[in-house]
Amino acid sequence: MKPMGPIPPYFADQRELTVAGKRAVDWVAEAGSPLFVYDVGIVRERLARLRAALPPACEIHFAIKANPLPAFLEAVAPLVGGLDVASGGELAKALAVKDAAHISFAGPGKRDWELEAAIAAGATLNLESEGETGRALAIGERLGVAPKLAVRVNPDFELRGSGMKMGGRASPFGVDAARVPALVKRLIEAGADWRGFHIFAGSQSLDTAAIVETQAATVALAARLADEAGAQPTLVNLGGGFGIPYFAGDVPVDVEAVGAALGDALAARPSVLVNSAFAIELGRWIAGECGVYLMTVIDKKTSGEETFLVCDGGLHHQLAASGNFGTVVRRNYPVAVAGKLGSEPIETVSIVGPLCTPLDRLADRVAMPEAGPGDVIAVFLAGAYGASASPAAFLGHGPAAEIVAGG
Ligand SMILES: *Cc1c(COP(=O)(O)O)cnc(C)c1O
Repeated sequence: MKPMGPIPPYFADQRELTVAGKRAVDWVAEAGSPLFVYDVGIVRERLARLRAALPPACEIHFAIKANPLPAFLEAVAPLVGGLDVASGGELAKALAVKDAAHISFAGPGKRDWELEAAIAAGATLNLESEGETGRALAIGERLGVAPKLAVRVNPDFELRGSGMKMGGRASPFGVDAARVPALVKRLIEAGADWRGFHIFAGSQSLDTAAIVETQAATVALAARLADEAGAQPTLVNLGGGFGIPYFAGDVPVDVEAVGAALGDALAARPSVLVNSAFAIELGRWIAGECGVYLMTVIDKKTSGEETFLVCDGGLHHQLAASGNFGTVVRRNYPVAVAGKLGSEPIETVSIVGPLCTPLDRLADRVAMPEAGPGDVIAVFLAGAYGASASPAAFLGHGPAAEIVAGG
C-alpha cells in the first residue's frame, strides 16, 4: 500500500462526497462520466481569506492558464483584481469577462497579432525581451496608441522549494535583471505607457518562509531597478508561487504569515515604490482545490498481486494526477470512492484509466473501501491544470464534461 495526498478540507469530513451541495453520484447521473465539477463557493472562500491576509496595497490576480474554462472565468473574474494571460487565445477569454485595464499578458514568443490584440484592447504586455519590446513599440506607433508595457524581469534569485523554478539562471522568461533599467528608459523615451515590473521567481512552493523571503527580495529588486531606471513603477507584480498540498505529508502555505510579512515589507518599502500598487498572481492556489474529477468504474480485475479498478476517466483529462505533468517521482493524489468517503478502507487497489498505456494510472496501490463497476471514483485537486493541461485528444475518448457550480 502507498500513501495518498490529503483530501482538501472542504470535503474531508463528509460521509458521502458532495460537491457544491449535490452528491457526486447525482452529478454523474445528471451530467455523465467522466466529469469535472468546480465549486466556485470554495474559490470565493479562499479568496476572501487571502484578501483578509494581504496588505491593502496588494491586489490578487488569477493566472487563467490554471483553469481557462469560460464559465469558470466568468465566475472568478469579479472576485479578483486582475487576470493574467499567456496567449492570444487566453487574452480573448479574459477580455470577455474583465476590463482590459485589469488584464496583463506575459509569455515568451508572443506573435505580432497577439501583441497587436493586447495593445488595441488596452491590456498590459509583460515584455519578455528587447526584441519583443521593439515589435510592441512599432505596433503601438502604427496603431497610434501608447502601448501599456511592463517589463518581466528574470530575477537574479529563485523561489526556494518551488516545483518549477523560474529565476536565478538563463531563462526564456523575462529580461535579465541587469539589462532591465536600460530597457525601461528606452520604453519611456519611446513614449510608451510604462506600467512597471513583473517578477516571477517560481511556482508550486509550500515553503512559507521561502515565499516570504522571495517576496521581500522581489520588492527590493523592484526598488533597485526602478532607482536605476529613474522612474516609479505603477504596478509591481510580485509573482505568486503558492502551492497546494497534493501529496502525503504536504502542508499548506500559511497565507496569514505571508500576508503579515508582505505587509511589513511594503510598509518599509523604499521611496521609489511609495506610489506603486502591488499584485500577486496565483493559479493553482485559487483554483486547484475547488475541482473534483469524477469517473466511473467500468471493470474490476486482478493481475498478479494487484487489484485494478479500471475507470472511464484517465490521464487524458487529469494528466497531472498520473504523475506525467512535471513531477519527478510519481506519487498519489488524494482519491476516494465517492459514495463511501467516510468508510474504512478494506482493500488495496490501483486506479487506472481506459488508455492503452501503462502511464494511465491515477492511483497506485491505495487503500480504499470496497468498490466495483458502477461506483464513482473522485480524484481531488482537479480545479487547476486538469482539463486544459491534459491530452484530451489522445486515444480518441474525447473531452470530459465540465460543470461550474456554487456560483
Ligand atoms: C503559470 C504562471 C502562474 C500561475 O502559477 P501557479 O503555480 O498556478 O500559481 C503565474 N504567473 C506566471 C507568469 C505563470 O506563468
